[in-house]
Amino acid sequence: MNIVLLGAPGSGKGTQATRISSRYDVKHISTGDIFRENIKNGTPLGVTAKGYIDQGHLCPDELTVAMVKERISRDDCAKGVLFDGFPRTIFQAQELDKFAKIDCVINLNVPSEKLIRRIVGRRSCLACGGTFHTDFIGETKTCPTCGQELYQRKDDNEETVKERIAVYEEQTKPLVNYYEEKGVLVNIDGDNDIEKIFTDIVKGIER
Ligand code: AMP
Repeated sequence: MNIVLLGAPGSGKGTQATRISSRYDVKHISTGDIFRENIKNGTPLGVTAKGYIDQGHLCPDELTVAMVKERISRDDCAKGVLFDGFPRTIFQAQELDKFAKIDCVINLNVPSEKLIRRIVGRRSCLACGGTFHTDFIGETKTCPTCGQELYQRKDDNEETVKERIAVYEEQTKPLVNYYEEKGVLVNIDGDNDIEKIFTDIVKGIER
C-alpha cells in the first residue's frame, strides 16, 4: 500500500507519519529528511538543495523526483511507502503516478493562523527524528525521547515559515483537487489532539 501525506508546513505530517508507518508496515519517506541528511553530509545534492530550503522555496522538481524514484526502488520500500512531503507540485504528482500507484492521500487540515506558531516553537531531534513543541518541553536542549541534542531547523523561523506557507498555498494545495478527482483523498481535521487525529486517519485509510 502506498500512502501520501498532504498538508501545509506545521500541519503535523511528521508526527502522524511515524504512527502510520509502524501501523501499516510501510516505509516512511520524508523528502525534507533526505534533503537535510544530504546537507549534513555535504553531498552535491545537499549543496544544491540548501539554497532553496533556506529561502523557504521548493527544490527543483526534476531533482526531487529523481531522488524519490531512486529511494523507493530499494528493498526496504517493497511493502509500500508513506510519502511525507512529496509530491508538492502537480508535476511531481504526475511523475509519481508513473512509478507508483497511490492508494490513499491523507490531507491534514490546520487553520493557517496556527501553523506559524506550531513551526516557530518546533524543536527536532536528529538522532531519533522526534519533533516537540516548546509549549510542552520548554527551552530544554535534550530530546525527551532519546536524550540526544535537540535543534531548531534553520527554516523554522517566522520569515521563512511565511514563505513556505505561501509556497504551499500556491504550488502544493492544487494537489487536493488533483487527488480528490482521482477518488483517493481523505480530509482530516489536523487541529485536534494527536491520538484523535491518528484514529481519524486509520478510519480514513480503512474506509
Ligand atoms: P519539510 O521537511 O517537508 O518541511 O521540507 C523542508 C524543505 O525541503 C522544503 O521547504 C523544501 O525546500 C524542501 N522539500 C522537501 N520536499 C520537497 C519536495 N517534494 N519538492 C521540493 N522541495 C522539497
